[in-house]
Amino acid sequence: MLTPFETVSENVFVARDARLHLNVGLVVGSERALLVDSGAGPESAQRIWDEAREVTELPIVVVNTHAHFDHTFGNARLKALGVEEFWAHPGIAAALEREDAGERKAAVAVDPSAAEGSPDAEVLVPNRLVPVSDAGTVKPTELDLGGVTASLFFLGRGHTDHDLLVGCGSVLFAGDLVEESGDPHFADSHPDEWIRTLGKITALEDLYETVIPGHGRPMRMDAVKVERATMRQAVRVTRTAMNEASTDLTKAVPILPYGPTQSRALLTRLRELAEWTWLEGYRRQPDAAGRG
Ligand SMILES: [Zn+2]
Repeated sequence: MLTPFETVSENVFVARDARLHLNVGLVVGSERALLVDSGAGPESAQRIWDEAREVTELPIVVVNTHAHFDHTFGNARLKALGVEEFWAHPGIAAALEREDAGERKAAVAVDPSAAEGSPDAEVLVPNRLVPVSDAGTVKPTELDLGGVTASLFFLGRGHTDHDLLVGCGSVLFAGDLVEESGDPHFADSHPDEWIRTLGKITALEDLYETVIPGHGRPMRMDAVKVERATMRQAVRVTRTAMNEASTDLTKAVPILPYGPTQSRALLTRLRELAEWTWLEGYRRQPDAAGRG
């Protein structure tokens, strides 16, 4: 179900898992290679490993773009196969620890070997986290693979609160910040910041010619610009519907530019975030909180 790794540009390869249109990246230097994401479970990871071994015999390190099952649940198998370094944004640990039954269920639906208690099915939290400055800024990290450098960097919250991007040469692996084969997934997202983060990605168009989305075919920056404009419109429409308090919010769903599932997910997420913001403000008022 996993395609062989195909060349995207010099030293950079991508394989696609047909079940989720999931992209797995491979960057090969003269000393080691980097896998971008680890698949939905042990068997998926095994196939990724086997295909990577068709390209290179060098030691392999892994970067997880974010915590979702299809990008991380293969970690434990890759460790069993000899991978020692797993890179990610520091926020991934909390996200993996919050891992709910839903993520596991979704993983098993795609990769039955991910069932709880199966060999190498445990969640493995990355052991190399990109550094954060005292001011809380995530510092870009360069991984020297031997004559080839992969840059790991964070441009702001979006699909999750810890989306890490991986740049190499003219290719940018964007994780699920960018999707080609379907609608963006909003469940854990920060939609307003996502729009800004997509803006920062498109500002890199002189650096990166090709964007590898989390799911779907390779894209040009123009397509990322379209994704951003669509999201901006969707957030605007949803918020307008939310502000018309008496309106049945589900009426907004048909006029959104996404399918019903992600339209509802966006609506739910914007409501959640609005409630949190309200609660946050409430807690800051000593009288209102009754705590003097
Ligand atoms: Zn995701």
